[in-house]
Order: sequence, then C-alpha cells, then structure tokens
Amino acid sequence: MSSWFPDVDNEAVLRRRGPKQPVDPTRPYAWLVEAERSARGVIEDVSTLFLTNRECPFRCVFCDLWRQTLDGPTPIGAVPEQIRWGLSQLPAAPHIKLYNSGNFFDPLAIPPVDYPAIAELVAPFETVIVENHPRLLNQHIIAFRDLISAQLEVALGLETVDPDILPRLNKRLTIDDFRSAAEWLRTRDVDVRTFVMLKLPGQSEDSAVDWAVRSIELAFDCGAHCCSVIAARAGNGLLDEWQQQGWFHPPRLQSLYEVLVQGLAIAGGKDAGIPRVFVDLWDAERLATCPACAPRQIAALRRMNLHQMVEPWPTCGCE
Ligand code: SF4
Repeated sequence: MSSWFPDVDNEAVLRRRGPKQPVDPTRPYAWLVEAERSARGVIEDVSTLFLTNRECPFRCVFCDLWRQTLDGPTPIGAVPEQIRWGLSQLPAAPHIKLYNSGNFFDPLAIPPVDYPAIAELVAPFETVIVENHPRLLNQHIIAFRDLISAQLEVALGLETVDPDILPRLNKRLTIDDFRSAAEWLRTRDVDVRTFVMLKLPGQSEDSAVDWAVRSIELAFDCGAHCCSVIAARAGNGLLDEWQQQGWFHPPRLQSLYEVLVQGLAIAGGKDAGIPRVFVDLWDAERLATCPACAPRQIAALRRMNLHQMVEPWPTCGCE
C-alpha cells in the first residue's frame, strides 16, 4: 500500500537542490567498461560514457542526475570530443552506452548537427544505447538511427506502474505514454530498455518490491528487451528532506534481490528475444543491513545479473 507524500512542482524540486559539481563540456564526467549479459545471451563488455551536457528539462522528484550537467545548451562539437576522448581511455568493447543524464534526443542536450561525428565514432560498436524520456519522441531518433550502423537501443524511464505514485513524481508521464513510446520505437526497429525504480517515496518495503515487479512485467509486455532496476536514493535535496520527514527511506539490499528473483522469473517466461533483468549495483553497499554479509550479497547479485540465474541469498543468519 502506498501513502501520500507532499505535492511538488518544478519550483519545489529546484528549491531543495544543492550546488552542481564542476564539469568540463569537453569531457564525459565518468567512463567505464563493465560486463553485461547481451541480447545474444552471452556476457560481453559494454563501454559506458556519462556525457556532460545540458540539464534535462524534466524535474523528477527522485532524480539527482542534474548534478553533473551544464546550465545552458551543449556547445556544438563538445559531445563528439567527449566520446573521442572517452573511448581513448577505455579498452575495445562490442557495445556502448552513451548516457547523458537526460534525453539524448533533446536537441539542446545533444546537438543534431553532431550526429554524423558521433555516428562515425561509434561505428565499431554493434549496439548503441542511449536514454530518453518516453514523451520525447521525434524525428531526431530516426535521423540518428539511420546514421549508425549499430543497433540503436533507447532506455526509457518507466519508474513505476504504481498508480498512486507515478503521477506524483513530477515526471509528466503516464503508463499509456510509456506504452506508446515503446511501440513507436519497436515499430521503427529501435530496441527498448526500461528503467524501473525500487522504493519511491510513499512506498513501503513490501509494496516497493511488488510495484517494481509489476513494472518489469509491464515493460516486457510492451516489448522491452531488458529492464534495469535502480534503488531510489537521497542526494538531490528533496529526497534528503523527505527522508528526514519520513516520506522516503531507501530500500534494503534484500529487496533488490527479491525484485531480481521475481523479475528473472518473468523474463524467463518470455518467448521472443532474450529479455534480461538487471539490478543497478552502484553504491549498493549503502543498502546492506549487515556489513559482514554485504560483500557476498553484492557478489551474488552481480553473478545473477550476469548469468540471469537465481542464487540463494547469502546471509550469516542476520536476517
Ligand atoms: S526525465 Fe530522467 S533525467 Fe530527467 S529529471 Fe526525470 S529521471 Fe532525471
């Protein structure tokens, strides 16, 4: 069961923010290579560049991605330079995520005039994965798809299908918007990845697991090839305040495990393609309730991500 939390608008979200971190428009703000189970069902490396660009115009209550963004439009030429430099820091990989803390097809974030240079830089990759708000569907997607030789995959934030919570996230998204976006992309030969949030404000531990699992189910019903589950976290100002007021509390690591177990059961029952469910393990230590068990529990989740197979939950008897 969900409980209400205060209504907020853009201004209320902005008022709680702290300062941004300093960023350089010619450099990604982070870069890494990590292994992921691919749509082919094998474990392959994925390069990820976290691009520095103009801030997302949406103001979701849970989002902290604005902290590493520019205040104004991204300068022309900056993103290709970031990709060129970022790739020079990483070993070769078959897939690449160009994550930009917002919407790749926002022309003020990634200038369309830079698409040809970006396409040339990502030519060695088989898959190019970008993120975009489900309501920002436009011809830029088709233009970019046609320029790259790789399979384009767009990650859409569904966040939750909880009908009490989704309208209150200030994301300006409905489930129908998500359905339409997934269909629009799939009928244009663009694969769909979906972000699902675990334990949004107003959700109890049990209801959070239930709604995350239902959200995964809906994403796969809409044709998503994979779902990535992200634990909600404080740090954007508003959620820190709500945590103090009792409207928000981060999920336990075991809840992430329970979502993955149930998500894998859903993915395993699908016929078409190779649906995958991942849980985001960035900073997962903070979700652990037993410091002694945390390393083994996170290692188990990492293996489950890679192999898409359920493992027992390692515990010293603490829970
Ligand atoms: S649409 Fe995505 S990037 Fe933009 S505020 Fe919402 S969660 Fe953050």
